[in-house]
Amino acid sequence: MPTRLVIRCSACGRRISQKNILQISFHYRLFGQSFVAIKYKCPRCKRVGEHMISENRWNASLLNYQKGELTPQEIVKFREMGKITPDEVLDFHLNLERSRNWLKELVK
Ligand SMILES: [Zn+2]
Repeated sequence: MPTRLVIRCSACGRRISQKNILQISFHYRLFGQSFVAIKYKCPRCKRVGEHMISENRWNASLLNYQKGELTPQEIVKFREMGKITPDEVLDFHLNLERSRNWLKELVK
């Protein structure tokens, strides 16, 4: 398990930091490897690029170079919860459609 993720600009090699990240998207596959696409804008050459990593290597705290947003206890907790299944993604989608307040209720 890598403790940090270093992304470099594909054009000029400049290291990309968390504040240069534009978008993170998750691509779940029922079969085959799921992956995470990290879209960034290079602070030096201003080009927009995309870095892909396999979903099982992904951890949001990898991007936080200074200190992780997750505590070690939270990392263990989330890892024990297992991967998000396609069923859970579907339930999430359906719940959002049914009620806009559902997400607010969830985080109360
Ligand atoms: Zn660059």
